[in-house]
Amino acid sequence: MRILKRLFAHVRPYWKPLLLTAIAMLLATGLSLLPPLFQRAIIDGVLATGDLSQLWKLIAGLVGVYALLQVVSMAEQYVRHVLGARFILDLRVRLYAHLQRLSLSFFEQTSTGELMSRVTNDVEALENFVTHGVTLTAVDLLRLLGASAILVTMEWRLALVVLIPVPFIALGLRYFNRYARPIYRQARDRLGDINARLEDNLAGIRVTQAFVQEEPELLRFSDTSRQYYHQRVRSIRAWSTYFPVLRFLALLGTALVLGFGARMVANGQVTLGTLVAFLAYSASFYEPLNRLTEIDNILQQAIAAGERIFELMDEVSDIQDAPDAMPLASIEGDVVFDDVHFRYQDGEEVLHDVDFHIAPGEVVALVGPSGAGKTSIARLLSRFYDPVHGRVLVDGHDLRGVQLASLRRHVAVVLQDTFLFNGTVRENLCYGKPDATDEELAAASTAAYAHEFIAQLPQGYDTEIGERGVKLSGGQKQRLALARAILADPRILILDEATSSVDAEAEYLIQQALDEVMKGRTALVIAHRLSTIRNADKIVALEDGRIREIGNHQELLSRGGLYSQLYQRQLELAVSQEN
Ligand code: ADP
Repeated sequence: MRILKRLFAHVRPYWKPLLLTAIAMLLATGLSLLPPLFQRAIIDGVLATGDLSQLWKLIAGLVGVYALLQVVSMAEQYVRHVLGARFILDLRVRLYAHLQRLSLSFFEQTSTGELMSRVTNDVEALENFVTHGVTLTAVDLLRLLGASAILVTMEWRLALVVLIPVPFIALGLRYFNRYARPIYRQARDRLGDINARLEDNLAGIRVTQAFVQEEPELLRFSDTSRQYYHQRVRSIRAWSTYFPVLRFLALLGTALVLGFGARMVANGQVTLGTLVAFLAYSASFYEPLNRLTEIDNILQQAIAAGERIFELMDEVSDIQDAPDAMPLASIEGDVVFDDVHFRYQDGEEVLHDVDFHIAPGEVVALVGPSGAGKTSIARLLSRFYDPVHGRVLVDGHDLRGVQLASLRRHVAVVLQDTFLFNGTVRENLCYGKPDATDEELAAASTAAYAHEFIAQLPQGYDTEIGERGVKLSGGQKQRLALARAILADPRILILDEATSSVDAEAEYLIQQALDEVMKGRTALVIAHRLSTIRNADKIVALEDGRIREIGNHQELLSRGGLYSQLYQRQLELAVSQEN
């Protein structure tokens, strides 16, 4: 009931078109109640008396009623279905807006395919709820009442017979709801699984093909799909058994009416015309009753989908602006990590006592073995996570006290695995600054040593680069990412240098671009390149989430500790790669 209430709350803003359709439906219902009266008039007034003078007038009236009925239902259906589509549109956009605000830790726990399934399939599943569930329920209830009133006034003894199956139908529905709801929920969950697997498999299709794993992947996919199929079959079994049973109960009622009614006609208690009209009205009693059972089915499905949608809507981001968060208007770029401890969700602590300072304009290199915590430090600085103890400060402001969007406007991140969107070079470059002029664009890409290769692309800046930039080389992608960062003009730059080796020429260009980008900015670099490390103002050497040493290249080298070991190893690697 709680879910249903929330669903109705979401429908409430659309009350105007809903009211309109309800009125049109009532009109249609009123009109649909007229034809039996014509039938009775023809049977009792024309056939019984043999007076044919009224026949064609009555037929003309009947045709008029039919025509009007169709016009009204045309308008009503149009409004109702457009409303359903509109509801889906609004809900989907609202859900996406919510999703975008959630923190990285949420996305680490939830698969993309599962989220896609909720935003597409589950939202879609609510369309029926709006187009059929809401108005039809109200109108069918009214029709039920209207038909009952007519039946009772027409012939109350027969009306009692009509009502005999009702309690059984009600009981049946109750039972069905209890039985079907978990099945529907399961089916939706399994559909989410299919999406999750599909997303994952398509993203990794290169690996699958390279390792010739098509067959096992196919097996896993068909297994997941089969589970969905089994849930579907269970739900199909549920409604395909229940609804005919319920309908049978209604038909039983009609048969009883015919039986008792025929006796009453034979005994002269009612006219034949009344019996025929009565049978027609009892059909308009059972029809909405039957439909209510189908609507119930729609409601159960909507509840299953709604549950999944609301679960998502109820997720709160663990990274949020504090109520009194202040905007960071302009900053110098002074960064302090003050006794920072950090862990991911419920994992072990991965950073301990991290303390360091980056003065404005300085380049600080983070070095250390893999898993030492370099990336985690970088993530804390752009506040993708909060420390569990200690503070991260920018220009003396604790990041938890500043508006997130304003912080991120000053901090640009260039990641190792460059993410580019499916679109043109220009769209990708302008991502952080949509209003950049052509001059700015050219200046940024020149600074990132990217202008030349972009100019040589078939359509220059308007070349489509393919999904995630598949049509570009690794080095080109990195330079594009750098140009994108330059264009956004951040005060603080976080760079995750690529470890993957590119050829010497590309390496040289990237290094030139890096130097250009870091000029005059505070830079935190997860460093792999010897040149970056050597030129850094300060090097922070990490191991097991702890800072082992801080100093410049010369100082640390002469100390002969962790850094000098790492440096020696790098040097050997560089030499062996050159040979
Ligand atoms: P580095 O960048 O130096 O290789 P990371 O900061 O990526 O190190 O990782 C530090 C530790 O945190 C590792 O033990 C890693 O397994 C763990 N870790 C990294 N990212 C996550 C995450 N999203 N969830 C849980 N643990 C993580």
